[in-house]
Amino acid sequence: MKIGIDLGTCNSVVFVPKKGVVLNEPSIVAISVQENKILAIGKEAKEMLGKTPGDIQIYKPLQNGVIADFRITLAMIRYFIRKVLGSFYFFKPDLVIGIPVGITSTEKRAVIEAGLGAGAKNVYLVRNPILAALGAGIPIESCSGNMIVDIGGGMTEAAVISLGGIVNSRSVRVGGDKMDLAISEYVKKKYNVYIGEYTAEEIKIKIGTALQEKEPKVIEFRGRDLVSGLPRNIKITSNEIFEAISDILNEILRVIKETLRETPPELSADIMEKGITLAGGGSLLRNLPQFISKSTGIPTFVAEEPLLCVAKGTGIILENLNLYKRILLTKKA
Ligand code: ADP
Ligand code: MG
Repeated sequence: MKIGIDLGTCNSVVFVPKKGVVLNEPSIVAISVQENKILAIGKEAKEMLGKTPGDIQIYKPLQNGVIADFRITLAMIRYFIRKVLGSFYFFKPDLVIGIPVGITSTEKRAVIEAGLGAGAKNVYLVRNPILAALGAGIPIESCSGNMIVDIGGGMTEAAVISLGGIVNSRSVRVGGDKMDLAISEYVKKKYNVYIGEYTAEEIKIKIGTALQEKEPKVIEFRGRDLVSGLPRNIKITSNEIFEAISDILNEILRVIKETLRETPPELSADIMEKGITLAGGGSLLRNLPQFISKSTGIPTFVAEEPLLCVAKGTGIILENLNLYKRILLTKKA
């Protein structure tokens, strides 16, 4: 039995060969503080958000793609494995887990230990950009250069891949979550109204844009007036959202430009020609590829099903473990 896991800061996606994506849930765990017990994981835990009594705490056990809480991450992986295996739970599966490019060996060790602790027979680690590229359908083994940019919740990773390996890469702890925060700050400053991160995320997904628009979209939402403390409705335009998140967009752009600057010229020429591929949920922001291609002069595309690219990449690795042996970072029996 083989299972691939994209252990994201926001979402965890699980892939099983011949079945495809079998699970896609938020990386969230609800815990009863008094009993020190896990109450719910994934979707079920997310539904408890904002409605929880004092005794229940909601955790995101992964921060910036690395394990922030070992025990809870282990429990989450065990939950994924059990859910996927169903009545075959007594099999010990092989796991392929994606990891960010910039993580330390201690952080890698923690991922392996969490996987083994959760019941895996073997844990193989692969760097996220390789998985994202594979899942986006990029022929990573070819000798020409390919650029993939994964924009997740907590992090943006840009990498140039050639001959099955990462030639150069950069990452920054900026992604969709910081956009939500910036939107919430903007609304507070401009309208004196408080909105939570989930309302901010909803606004971003519905009308957010990476370019100023001639005919901006408008959305109405409810927040809490900071003076009266009462609920208040506000109308906001996509151009205001653009203004709110433009610093973050520029940081993402900077990482892409720095990665390009460090790329050997032969490979840059390939990228100029073939373009930049975007993956991760953040790449779904309206007009983001246009913003990047306008500022870099390089055609930019969003991969098909960008939220699933890393998980699909684990599937391709799992189906050809022997072929991709070279790419696997660690192996432990
Ligand atoms: P991670 O790998 O960190 O778990 P994901 O790749 O799952 O992250 O992406 C999650 C991020 O993508 C969140 O910040 C979410 O708000 C954002 N996102 C999802 N859909 C959209 C959309 N349509 N427009 C803009 N952002 C989106
Ligand atoms: Mg991710």
